[in-house]
Amino acid sequence: MDYQHLLERIAADVAPLIGSGTPAEYIPALAGVDPRRFGMAIADLEGNVFGTGDWRVPFSTQSITKVFALALALAEGGDSLWERVGREPSGNPFNSLVQLEYENGIPRNPFINAGALVVTDRLQTLTGDASSELLDFLRQESGNPDIGFDAEVAASEHEHGDRNAAVAHFMASYGNIDNPVPALLDHYFWQCSIEMTCADLALAARFLARHGLRSDGSRLLTRSEAKQINAVMMTCGTYDAAGEFAYRVGLPGKSGVGGGIIAVVPGRCTLAVWSPGLDAQGNSVAGAAALDRFTTLTGLSVF
Ligand code: GLN
Repeated sequence: MDYQHLLERIAADVAPLIGSGTPAEYIPALAGVDPRRFGMAIADLEGNVFGTGDWRVPFSTQSITKVFALALALAEGGDSLWERVGREPSGNPFNSLVQLEYENGIPRNPFINAGALVVTDRLQTLTGDASSELLDFLRQESGNPDIGFDAEVAASEHEHGDRNAAVAHFMASYGNIDNPVPALLDHYFWQCSIEMTCADLALAARFLARHGLRSDGSRLLTRSEAKQINAVMMTCGTYDAAGEFAYRVGLPGKSGVGGGIIAVVPGRCTLAVWSPGLDAQGNSVAGAAALDRFTTLTGLSVF
């Protein structure tokens, strides 16, 4: 398949949507990002990467990192994680508190903030330094040693992080957080602040298309675990718009409020797209449209 030609076609098709939506405003350091940015990359299983637009411009990965943290927590700690976090779509916004009380401090899934806090807590217990472990992994899988944290974004999240702090303390009151909440929040905000390009993300996510194999050929996850993560991405990766995303795109995907989305075609390739304008659910408007065009033009969905 001529990925380069395809990407140019997709970029042209979604051009009228670039700039639609609003960059995340509740994290002030993200609010100033130019909403007209658009980039998209595709990585094949061999590690060739193709791109269009701003595909080599670093942006704030935000909740996309939740996928990688989950993969590491499962790889290092195994299945017992699922005693502390569910695998059902929440139907609520990513930062919602309401279900947590009804469900005794067990978050619905690992891709809403509450679930990701539990995953990061687990990774912190397993490794002693969750955010550095994650950064190292992303550098290795993408082959880019320059990937780093954005201290300004992390500080901005901290300053406006009352809701995440509330979620974490609430879960701690149910005994579902092992580490001190302030330390956990530090790691969570560092994790969210990691800056990567579309090329970096498409390359780093390849283990999900390669049924659990890392870029060096070693095994990170069993084939079954890789399937499980892809399944949870499909059902929960775009928050309370996961049904709509599955309907339009038909691929496992994970978005972040920085405007990025990754998607996986198991056994074939990975995609990453970035455009900061978000819809009401916090998903990139042009990014989701670009992935919709990808599967429509190629027929490469899981269905
Ligand atoms: N850092 C963001 C938060 O915790 C991540 C949310 C997102 O990308 N959806 O609110």
